[in-house]
Amino acid sequence: MTNPVVQKVNPMLTEERAKASFPVEELTYILDGGKFNTEKRREIEELVTKDPNFEHPPIQFMTREQQYSLAVKKALLVQQRLKELDMLDDPYASYFFRRIAMPREVSPIGLHWVMFVPTLMGQCSDEQRERWLQRALNYEIIGTYAQTEMGHGTFLRGIETTATYDPSSQQFVLHSPTTTSIKWWPGGLGKTCNYAVVVAQLHTQGRCHGVHMFLVQLRDESTHRSLPGVVCGDIGPKMGYHTIDNGFLQLNSVRIPRENMLMRNAEVQPDGTYIRRVSNEKLTYGTMVFVRSLIVSDAARGISEAATIAVRYACVRRQGEPSSPGAPEPRLLDYPVHQYRLLTCVANLLRTMPDVLEGRTERLPETHALSAGLKAVGSNRGAACVEECRRCCGGFGFSEASGLPKIYNDINPACTYEGENTVMLLQTGRHLLKCVERARRGEQLAPSDAYIRSRPTPQPKLAGGPLTADLLLGWLRWRSLSMLLEVSGRFNSFIEQRQAWADAFQAVSRRLTRCAEAHCILYVGQAFLDSAKAAENPKICGVLTSLCRLFLLNEVVSGAGDVQLSRSDLARCQDAIDSLLTELRPNAVALVEAFDLPDRMLCSVIGRYDGQVYEAMLQWARQSPLNATDVHESYELYTRQFLAGRSLAKL
Ligand SMILES: Cc1cc2nc3c(=O)[nH]c(=O)nc-3n(C[C@H](O)[C@H](O)[C@H](O)COP(=O)(O)OP(=O)(O)OC[C@H]3O[C@@H](n4cnc5c(N)ncnc54)[C@H](O)[C@@H]3O)c2cc1C
Repeated sequence: MTNPVVQKVNPMLTEERAKASFPVEELTYILDGGKFNTEKRREIEELVTKDPNFEHPPIQFMTREQQYSLAVKKALLVQQRLKELDMLDDPYASYFFRRIAMPREVSPIGLHWVMFVPTLMGQCSDEQRERWLQRALNYEIIGTYAQTEMGHGTFLRGIETTATYDPSSQQFVLHSPTTTSIKWWPGGLGKTCNYAVVVAQLHTQGRCHGVHMFLVQLRDESTHRSLPGVVCGDIGPKMGYHTIDNGFLQLNSVRIPRENMLMRNAEVQPDGTYIRRVSNEKLTYGTMVFVRSLIVSDAARGISEAATIAVRYACVRRQGEPSSPGAPEPRLLDYPVHQYRLLTCVANLLRTMPDVLEGRTERLPETHALSAGLKAVGSNRGAACVEECRRCCGGFGFSEASGLPKIYNDINPACTYEGENTVMLLQTGRHLLKCVERARRGEQLAPSDAYIRSRPTPQPKLAGGPLTADLLLGWLRWRSLSMLLEVSGRFNSFIEQRQAWADAFQAVSRRLTRCAEAHCILYVGQAFLDSAKAAENPKICGVLTSLCRLFLLNEVVSGAGDVQLSRSDLARCQDAIDSLLTELRPNAVALVEAFDLPDRMLCSVIGRYDGQVYEAMLQWARQSPLNATDVHESYELYTRQFLAGRSLAKL
């Protein structure tokens, strides 16, 4: 969306920008991973901005079909441009190109490069890679990942779709035996993709060998018609993701060649003999860790957009009793409670600054367990912060013009897909229980789990000395260990009472999710502080450390019920939060603007750089199709009759 009106910058925003106590541009370089990246990103922004093919009226006024069609066109155009510009092999450039070209359209081909291609990379044998991967990378075929069924999502082993091997034809027969076995949800499955990796129960020689992956062609490569036995379509409108055709798929005895089973970790030989190979953990876990790290980055992206909009709006929106007769009404950002709501979101945003999972593949099982919890905490916080920013904008936050409902609706599904968040926390929790056992046996633990080996100590005192970030982290470490030891003690007592492992696990599961959250918060808190300390410029280091302290203090205060925090410690933390709000308030705009999000990416009438909210809002509303005529046709059809006392039932 282009800015409908170009105005002089609102002086209230200019005034706020002048208050920055640190060089904003330098923080932008840090957030981008270096000046070089910032410059490259800006070049890409300019390229996209100049390209008229990416211009269109606000998407919010379009029907779902129009939105889908536009998104398909833009997604393919992006690929074409990336190829022309020779940027396909540059992940940073292609990520930003997509992000700027499609700021509010979830891509209908997104699953192709987020799940389909990585699955082919991780699960294909070398020969299979030769055959399919290059075609997928060249976009000769477009694929999705079809695992979830109507009846089963979380419980993978419950999947009902069958792949039965027929040695006489050397083919697998893919079949959906029940209504509940119909694949439901895969992105791009409805209309866009012509191939899918389908997860199904493998049957051969009269035995079921559990779930495996199969490459299934869904549509003809030239006509795009669905192939015989394939019934697929769009699952209909959802809370968000209007531009993507999440789909259903029913397979009626669809035959595929034996070689279409993805055979890196297991194989069915021509005579039907099943062979399982030792799986390569790097490849199996690597894809999941990769996708989860993308989700954490997406959550950060959502908060950065929402916080930029809400903070700018809070600077230009005046509301409330003037402090003295004749004085202007206060700005929203002048209210301490508003500062708290927004600055804690900003702190949650900057805590995601270090790309927590990037490159940490040396201990994949631990990284995998941690990534499950970080995915949950990242997307839960992302959705909560975006919603808080939306509410901070009052009624305008409810209007699509603000851009906030769309950010929320597009970030929220990440709490469900790629492992529902509660289930993800339980996965991390299970790993933590194992860590306690291993620590008891004196075994080494991964660096992020190492504190579990330490002896329990008394609760660190927070009242008294200065509330440094290190002290707060120490308290959070103590909290995490105390909670975990308490839960593992409870778990062990159930086991000693001869309860089955699964029952004992269920009995502590509610508490265990809190342990997993506390563990992840400790991890990101430490990473946040490390990044803050790493900033070379002392002014940037100072402001980031203050923000980190706000993040940590807020965690201490909001988690005070998990362990008993004394009244004096709690009061001390609350006072420190109040002081930090006063200290950080002048930097509120600078902090969000360090993310350097252009208006074209924000797509927000109330979060525009120039802060000219009201004129832009009126212009936006005028574009509503309901305003195409002065008198709407419903007046002639119904209202006129109703007002004249005629019965509407006869119409
Ligand atoms: C926008 C979107 C896109 C998606 N894209 C894809 C895709 O491309 N491909 C694909 O295959 N799937 C996709 N999915 C499906 C997604 O992966 C599933 O929705 C998800 O795994 C949850 O499964 P479910 O919906 O069956 O919920 P269920 O598994 O039925 O879970 C329902 C609730 O029960 C809870 N629960 C379940 N089991 C347990 C347990 N053991 N202990 C405690 N609580 C439990 C969960 O926490 C959840 O709150 C997508 C979903 C969405 C919303």
